[in-house]
Amino acid sequence: MSYERVTFLGLGLIASSMFWAMRRAGMRAHVTGYARSEQTRATAREIGLCNTVCDDLASAVREADLVVLCLPVGAMGAVMAEAAAHIKPGATVTDVGSVKRAVIEAVAPHIAPGVHFVPGHPLAGTEHSGPTAGFAELFDNRWCLLTPNGADTDAVAQLSQYWQALGAKVEEMDPDHHDLVLAVTSHAPHLIAYTMVGVADDLHRVTNSEVINFSATGFRDFTRIAASDPTMWRDVFLTNKDATLEILGRFTEELFALQRAIRTGDGEMLHDYFTRTRAIRRGIIDAGQDTDAPDFGRKKS
Ligand code: NAP
Repeated sequence: MSYERVTFLGLGLIASSMFWAMRRAGMRAHVTGYARSEQTRATAREIGLCNTVCDDLASAVREADLVVLCLPVGAMGAVMAEAAAHIKPGATVTDVGSVKRAVIEAVAPHIAPGVHFVPGHPLAGTEHSGPTAGFAELFDNRWCLLTPNGADTDAVAQLSQYWQALGAKVEEMDPDHHDLVLAVTSHAPHLIAYTMVGVADDLHRVTNSEVINFSATGFRDFTRIAASDPTMWRDVFLTNKDATLEILGRFTEELFALQRAIRTGDGEMLHDYFTRTRAIRRGIIDAGQDTDAPDFGRKKS
């Protein structure tokens, strides 16, 4: 059964992509949106994002069958504290946050009896943000992880169907396991990209224009990742602290091992290491989660 009324709280990249994906799928649900700033609400109205854009939280959630929190992880608890009393019994609340344990701790205490809370995380995004950044294809063939944490099974099944209609593949996962997996696959890599770009910025021997003009593919990929939304990523690191620190500890050990191999001229170690990592890239392409198109994003001339 599909939802008749869906409400997005927060109207950025993820909410707008969900809206366009719903329209592409031909879903007839009435979609309501709410954003805190007048500017975002005005843009949403201008581009036809949602059937109704509300200026206040209470009216936005009042009739919803599904409420989707599309906010930075650190803002979800406070927004739910204000919205919860206006959500009708039988409705489902979900979120799209990149961290799951902290969201459960912040949001679950506010959920009223009779309302289902099914946390989720679509593993799809770009470095762009805001209401105009969304596009219908964002979730195609991407995973959406649900961390039901004991939620009603019918509510979980309905949400799973909804995400599949948006183009995603759905899997259930324990929230702590989710946070560890994402620390490896997303959070630590983002921190490393932020660091690498920060190092280049700090390196006074190389002028800014050289860093920009002579940027090789590796550095350009880092800059794309390091252009991701500062608020979103600040919240990710503050809320997935333990798992990120665990992975960074392992990363540092590996980095020291590679550093030693370079210093001692251990070419065999370096070659074996890079052969192993190349196989991981192959596995991601074989799983359909990326293409091996070279130099993605570079202008033709
Ligand atoms: P976004 O484009 O930056 O949009 C964020 C929205 O949240 C905006 O409407 C903003 O409102 C609102 N907001 C920000 N701070 C707020 C606060 N303190 N109180 C109330 N509203 C606030 O973000 P997004 O990329 O869609 O990300 C939303 C969520 O999706 C995050 O939890 C993120 O972890 C998760 N996620 C992101 C990606 C990605 O690659 N971007 C991928 C998967 C999951 P205003 O516009 O009015 O300021």
